[in-house]
Amino acid sequence: AIPLVIAISTATSAKSGILVKDRLALERMRTVNVVLFDKTGTLTKGRPAVTGVVAADGDQDAATGRVLALAGAAEADSEHPLARAIVTAAQRRGPVPAAGGFRSLTGRGVQAEVDGVPVLVGGPRILDGPDPQLPEPIQAATQRWRGDGSTVIYVLADGIVVGALALADEIRPESVAAIRDLHALGVKVAMITGDAHSVADAVGRHVGVDEVFAEVLPADKDSKVAELQARGQRVAMVGDGVNDAPALARADVGIAIGAGTDVAIESAGVVLASDDPRSVVGVITLSRASYRKMW
Ligand code: ADP
Ligand code: MG
Repeated sequence: AIPLVIAISTATSAKSGILVKDRLALERMRTVNVVLFDKTGTLTKGRPAVTGVVAADGDQDAATGRVLALAGAAEADSEHPLARAIVTAAQRRGPVPAAGGFRSLTGRGVQAEVDGVPVLVGGPRILDGPDPQLPEPIQAATQRWRGDGSTVIYVLADGIVVGALALADEIRPESVAAIRDLHALGVKVAMITGDAHSVADAVGRHVGVDEVFAEVLPADKDSKVAELQARGQRVAMVGDGVNDAPALARADVGIAIGAGTDVAIESAGVVLASDDPRSVVGVITLSRASYRKMW
């Protein structure tokens, strides 16, 4: 039989927008001492917009328009939030050519062929190939963008860097309070992301996390959880994306943001009805209140 206290707490949780899929996960939540948040879509809104374009051969309208068109063409088939933002910006600017041979490069970017030219679009890891020299105008722009915490995306044609884009995502205003309240409960807070160190550090500083893990490949997010557990930590992971699913499953408590992907929701023990990170605080207080009464 389900103890009365669980029945009561389940009713309370439904009211506060906390869906408990796995009762043992809720029970474990009271012993969690680190909450690990995914950045994109969890602490930030996950709806980035293009805020800058630079071309290797000058900053005239034609040159930057070409960079945006190439990037938009290559990203047409990608579902990544960065891709959606790039396609939208490119279409606003002008006609976007058709692309073929689309391939997604997990945690790095995309590859496609545009007007017979192989095009790569992606973050710093896309430059790991042969001879990724950064022309001076691109170096200067990316330095500036990094400084203000923007995500920098490079555009390569035929293996040469022809341009770069800046994208900015909005930090959820509730994230700051969520982390402050977790600290007040004596819980440490960390953030994990595939995004560059510069962006991750800027967001991490703003929201006040204790530790930042950046440039983590999707397949390595769950290893990071395992690493923290090996250090004796009890970890709650909070995420929204497909790439968070293994980490949600690995964590002592996996918490999916309600607006997240189906895979994330399936892998989590607790699902939040809203996308407000403060609900995580509610999961801890609910767990502590429910299970304290049992012995
Ligand atoms: P996150 O953990 O922040 O959700 P991902 O693992 O999905 O990030 O992606 C990590 C990084 O890989 C992004 O910050 C970006 O630099 C790059 N990237 C991934 N997919 C794309 C894409 N479609 N277009 C451009 N860059 C991409
Ligand atoms: Mg995410």
